[in-house]
Amino acid sequence: MHQPQPTLIPTHYLPPPPQNRPRPQQGEWPIPHFRLRVEDLSHPGAQLFFEQVNPLQSLHNAVVEVFKDLYTPDTVPQEVETVVLVLRSMPGVAHTTGAEIYKEIHFSLEYLQQQRSSSRARDEINGVLVHEMVHCFQYNGKRKCPGGLIEGIADWVRLQADLRPPHWREGRGRTWDEGYEATAFLLDWIESKYGQGIVRNLNLTMRDRQYDDEIFREQTGRSITTLWKEYREYIDRVPKA
Ligand SMILES: [Zn+2]
Repeated sequence: MHQPQPTLIPTHYLPPPPQNRPRPQQGEWPIPHFRLRVEDLSHPGAQLFFEQVNPLQSLHNAVVEVFKDLYTPDTVPQEVETVVLVLRSMPGVAHTTGAEIYKEIHFSLEYLQQQRSSSRARDEINGVLVHEMVHCFQYNGKRKCPGGLIEGIADWVRLQADLRPPHWREGRGRTWDEGYEATAFLLDWIESKYGQGIVRNLNLTMRDRQYDDEIFREQTGRSITTLWKEYREYIDRVPKA
């Protein structure tokens, strides 16, 4: 008689395996373990991905970029042990899920496939990875941070990494927290006018406290409403390309 076979469970329903190896360090940065799951290896999007990037290097670089821009070795979060990159068929571009110690970045194979004709496919892949990696490590003000600021900080880090896509235009957006590059460029302008390190401080403030618009005044002496007005005036003065 055959023993009944144990039911095979897809690995993504299981918690991450215990890590026997200590996490790699880069200087004082606690680099997480990386895992890669490709749900359809023969998909043209997967092929394009492997042609364009070295996954370990891209994930590593994305983490270091996030740490450099949002933290110092003294403040960097230590709890994220594992980041899994999942290439799979799905609508949209990418998103991040997970718990405190374990994060998954889901990246669309169809979106990757669309980059085949692009001369900047590598930058686009790395830019998306940086954006999603921010979500693995940023704080959210006890879940009260506006979604637009969460997305704005993610694209602000992408901007710092010099991975902005060519379609980004400064000055878009009707409200300060419209998100993505609209808020990213606002944050960039705030730092250029009121001092480097403000975005890092905003993020860190949201570690232990509920989000409140006042955090902008604490960092700049101006309310976010005033900052947005000043920024719009600045944009109106900039000659249009
Ligand atoms: Zn995002």
